[in-house]
Amino acid sequence: MSYSDDESLPGECDWCHDDRGLCDRPHLDEDRCFSIKLKETFDVETLIPCHARRYVLERMGFEDHESMETKKIHLRTHHGMDFEVNLYNSESVTLFGCKKWEALCRMYGFHEDMLVTMALGDPEIEQDNMDIWVLVDTPPILPLSYFHSSKNVWKMVDKTHYTNGSELTYQEKNHLIAFCTDLENYNIYNQTPQHYGQYVPLGHMLNYGNYHGDTLRIPMDCVPHLMYQNGSLDVLNIHPGHPTNLNCPYQISKRSGDMLIKEWKKCMDSRKEVLGSKRKRSARIEDRMISILHNGESGSILFYAILP
Ligand SMILES: [Zn+2]
Repeated sequence: MSYSDDESLPGECDWCHDDRGLCDRPHLDEDRCFSIKLKETFDVETLIPCHARRYVLERMGFEDHESMETKKIHLRTHHGMDFEVNLYNSESVTLFGCKKWEALCRMYGFHEDMLVTMALGDPEIEQDNMDIWVLVDTPPILPLSYFHSSKNVWKMVDKTHYTNGSELTYQEKNHLIAFCTDLENYNIYNQTPQHYGQYVPLGHMLNYGNYHGDTLRIPMDCVPHLMYQNGSLDVLNIHPGHPTNLNCPYQISKRSGDMLIKEWKKCMDSRKEVLGSKRKRSARIEDRMISILHNGESGSILFYAILP
């Protein structure tokens, strides 16, 4: 691990780059807490502030505070998340900066200049000894299943466009991840000709604004650029494996760029399993649905499923 101290800005500590003027006074708050102000490259490396470093090293069992050593420690949150991360020590700095650390940062949507408070585990409690609690107030924005998915699924999840009322909690995002994973597997298994461009999934709340008179409106952001102005598409619900075989004409609005899918009622009426359950039912107003428009050599497909 390379580290240079010549990049510090005025007012920043040469070692940990903290600018709060706390470094000369070794201490923990309430005998166990300290906070880290995240720098721009926090997901790559985040340094323990000097004032807390000694205590962190002691509690985590580093004997020589000035030698290169890496230990695996557990970072836990009160949402039951547990990440085994590397804690790297070198002569004068100690830092986080591995894949698991990056995952924790992404899971909670950490950002530059954010203050992250950590609390050292209680040495009196055996299971709490080697742990550091990360005290985050806000719930995760991504579930654990995200980090076990393919890069391709990450891209889809990251690009998802939500319309009003269709935002998903981190637990509900498990369904989105399952949907994207199924779609990926479906495409591999069926050798679906490649999509032109990148998938932009849509989280949609069915209401009378976007579904009326037998027509479903898909916002422009989710419509692939190279689609014909008019045509027809296959509507497939692949979850969990018995695709529907419906076909609907569509038109792309010249004014808004939105796609208008006609004859949608038959898709509403088609009884399908809702995501994450074996229960079959038809779709109704105020359901949330996830869809992905595929546009490739063999034609256009709308993959969709209904959320519980
Ligand atoms: Zn410092």
